[in-house]
Amino acid sequence: MTDAFIGMGSNLGDSVALLIDARAAIDQLAGCRIVASSSLYRSAPIGPQDQPDYFNAVLHIDTSLSASELLTALQYLEQQAGRVRIRHWGERTLDLDILLYGEQIISQANLQIPHPRLTERAFVLKPLLEISRQTTLPDGQSLTTCCTATADQPICLHHDSRWSITP
Ligand code: ADP
Ligand code: MG
Repeated sequence: MTDAFIGMGSNLGDSVALLIDARAAIDQLAGCRIVASSSLYRSAPIGPQDQPDYFNAVLHIDTSLSASELLTALQYLEQQAGRVRIRHWGERTLDLDILLYGEQIISQANLQIPHPRLTERAFVLKPLLEISRQTTLPDGQSLTTCCTATADQPICLHHDSRWSITP
């Protein structure tokens, strides 16, 4: 079994409901179990600014799937949520990214782990640091230092009673 962290995002449709459904679906994947779920956050878009705010969260899972099997399963769930890619870094119903997969460093054409933009995005770093005891990346970079460097990115906790119920 491997500890992995998944970043979730949505800014189209009923984003909170989409993230709740995705969290439940991930917990029900064969070979995946949720260990911890971060709080829900709301963040301003990065990229095109004429799109709604994002809702984000991070899940800690324990999985027997390989990293590429996990990617396939998450992409299937994105499709199930009716994901349409409108434009680069643009609005989406559901985005599921593998942030970390154990201590592994993976550089394949369709899969990079740690996620290549993990260190630059407050909406990933804040929820990750909330639930992870791991404070460094496999290459030794400090997550806290990265998070401090993103302090200018607007992000806040978003309270929604639907999210608080343990999956
Ligand atoms: P982004 O999440 O970067 O905004 P997408 O969700 O559209 O963009 O992902 C584009 C591609 O990123 C996917 O087709 C996938 O193969 C690739 N990818 C590379 N590394 C990862 C990862 N760690 N997690 C999820 N997708 C990844
Ligand atoms: Mg993605």
